[in-house]
Amino acid sequence: MACSASRPGCVDLHIHSSFSDGSLTPARIMEDAHRQGLFAVSITDHDTVEGIIQLPEEKLPDLPHFLSGVEISAQIPAPFSQDGTLHLLGYGIDCNNKPLQRALAACQEARRQRNPQIIERLAALGLPISRQEVEALSGSGQTGRPHMAQVLVNNKGVASMEEAFERYLGKGRPAYVDKFRFPADQAIELIRQAGGIAVLAHPFSLNLPPDLLERLVIRFVEMGLGGIEAIYPAHDSLQTQSFADLAGKLGLLVTGGTDFHGASKPHIRIGVGKGDFFVPASIYENLLRSLEKIKGQKR
Ligand code: AMP
Ligand code: FE
Ligand code: FE
Ligand code: ZN
Repeated sequence: MACSASRPGCVDLHIHSSFSDGSLTPARIMEDAHRQGLFAVSITDHDTVEGIIQLPEEKLPDLPHFLSGVEISAQIPAPFSQDGTLHLLGYGIDCNNKPLQRALAACQEARRQRNPQIIERLAALGLPISRQEVEALSGSGQTGRPHMAQVLVNNKGVASMEEAFERYLGKGRPAYVDKFRFPADQAIELIRQAGGIAVLAHPFSLNLPPDLLERLVIRFVEMGLGGIEAIYPAHDSLQTQSFADLAGKLGLLVTGGTDFHGASKPHIRIGVGKGDFFVPASIYENLLRSLEKIKGQKR
């Protein structure tokens, strides 16, 4: 069922702003979400909470409710296959928490080290792009591969962002350069010590068969994981069900969101994903209840 102003029970807990690799400012995201009648949203930028810090509470609309968030890339623990990608979402974090801010600064520094190396590799492949072009796109936000992909598209080096990732920038492709990631246990602990709940983002991206995924998620639970993002536009209905079942089996929350980025993923819209995506308000309410419990325990 698609989410719309006539269906106000809808939430979107995975949204990127211009402070990472999204194209809309946090204020504009809130305006759009308000116009759509969403019940709650979370901005979950890669490696930064700056967009949330700069979004003053008094400027937030009554609806949607706003939940702080972040998305941290982490190392997949051995002996599990490293082919996939591990992203952890942190919800309800205190954005002014110093250890979290220091850790995110380290991730940002890792990007600054890595970006010129990718640009060098692209040049060696006959696809020269300049740092200035890339940074003009990312503005004051975090610079990453999507910005480089967009420059390649603009310069007619490739026909689409997808092609840029498939041929050059994706993991294992010739212009790919790995970057520093926190081990999963440290990333989870960073989120928790900042008062947040750690959630496994888009589990399909781990690229593991169900039995291995379950073993890995059990490891994450031992590290303090609190939820699984079962509801995600790239998950088909069987995947959604099996990830939600796994969450139920292990006593984890289920969360969901579109991973909205704006211009770089134009087929994904806030709240509705490709059109028929729907995350019910109860998902947000369960998350909030768990966060309140954590706060109560800390008092
Ligand atoms: P980075 O943070 O620089 O490693 O870039 C990772 C980001 O690139 C992800 O968060 C996505 O937004 C984007 N991305 C990864 N793979 C693709 C793809 N195949 N097509 C478009 N965007 C992608
Ligand atoms: Fe992204
Ligand atoms: Fe992600
Ligand atoms: Zn994301």
